[in-house]
Amino acid sequence: MNLSRLASSIAESPTLKLNALAKSMLAQGLPVIHLGGGEPKNKAPRSAVEAAAALLETGDIKYTPSAGTLSLRKAIVEYTRANYGRTAAAENVIVSAGAKQTLYNLMLVLIDPGDEVIVPAPFWVSYPEMIRMAGGAPVIVPSPPATHVPRPEDLLAAVTSRTKAILFNSPNNPSGALYGADVVEEVVRFCERKGIWFLADDIYHKLVFDGKTAPNPCAFTDKGAEESRVILVNAVSKIYGMTGFRIGWAVAPGNIVSAMKNIQSTTTSCNSGVLMAAAEGALRGPQDGVGELVSLLEDNRNVMLEALGNIPNVKVVKPAGTFYCLPDFSAYGKDSAALSNLLLEKAYVVTVPGKAFGAEGHLRLSYCGSRDEVTEGVARIRWALDPSAPKEIRIGGKAVVRDW
Ligand code: PMP
Repeated sequence: MNLSRLASSIAESPTLKLNALAKSMLAQGLPVIHLGGGEPKNKAPRSAVEAAAALLETGDIKYTPSAGTLSLRKAIVEYTRANYGRTAAAENVIVSAGAKQTLYNLMLVLIDPGDEVIVPAPFWVSYPEMIRMAGGAPVIVPSPPATHVPRPEDLLAAVTSRTKAILFNSPNNPSGALYGADVVEEVVRFCERKGIWFLADDIYHKLVFDGKTAPNPCAFTDKGAEESRVILVNAVSKIYGMTGFRIGWAVAPGNIVSAMKNIQSTTTSCNSGVLMAAAEGALRGPQDGVGELVSLLEDNRNVMLEALGNIPNVKVVKPAGTFYCLPDFSAYGKDSAALSNLLLEKAYVVTVPGKAFGAEGHLRLSYCGSRDEVTEGVARIRWALDPSAPKEIRIGGKAVVRDW
């Protein structure tokens, strides 16, 4: 059977593949520590669960408007005003099955064959594949490894007549880096001037540590939702711990939203009303859970950094947000996939090879699990890699000796 060119060119998401592998190893009773995960452990807010349960209880669950229910879009309008000072109408909002579908539909709507989208590296794994699936060309611009923050001059130097968009994700998956206001300002002002889309994947925007806040891209433009080139992408997935609810959205000019709605109405019809009710419950309900999640993640970040400090020659940029960090393990092997495999086979620790994120020689480690998982996970990594570490360790209650 011959697969289409598109199908043959797209690989499985490496992070979701590792999630599935970690789950199956755990199901076999293996003492796996999952430092590859991309979701916080907290429960969905009560307000979300109650709103979904109330709707479910009616038993009246039908198709919904393709762009999302008006009441959720209004809640998103309020969220956008409160968090970004941007005045938008419900017509500027489209709700999709997670930020992933939102981003993919955006690519389909913005990109013609051969158009380019500039993506600073390190980047979230799915961006290049999505851009390619839409017929575009990802233009990867490396950031200095000492900060993982892109330099505006490098990004602007990559702009050509085919550049359709520049895609920012800050705080960043996989590095945890927060791009400074100066960087965001320069690139936003440039995009507004040149008519290039500035896509802000802001899915982690509230998960910022040390009392800081993420610079707001809308602060650097006088234009409103209808005229501005800044498109905001967000979701309930990460900040409310609601990854499984699959609700994300974009705030964009009405013609972009309409085109995305047409794609959505043709491909998926609409989102589930139950899940949209849950998202609305989270947005309108008490917000204290977000602050609690931030302090928990900040503590975990500190534990992770301290533990990594015990492994000689591992360099790491202190993450300012998210629940990821991207240590440089090149002292132990240049091939991150081989390193990640070794850690899985010998130490039962799941990590994500940096190569997937445009950062070969690095591993992405998540600290969205428990403190103990972070400490033990990194201790096992040290045991597996560092020749000066004690040869014996206990894994899953058994003594294991390093013999390589
Ligand atoms: N953008 C980034 C940077 C992400 O890390 C993720 C999830 N890993 C997504 C988008 C997709 O989010 P969702 O689960 O809402 O589709």
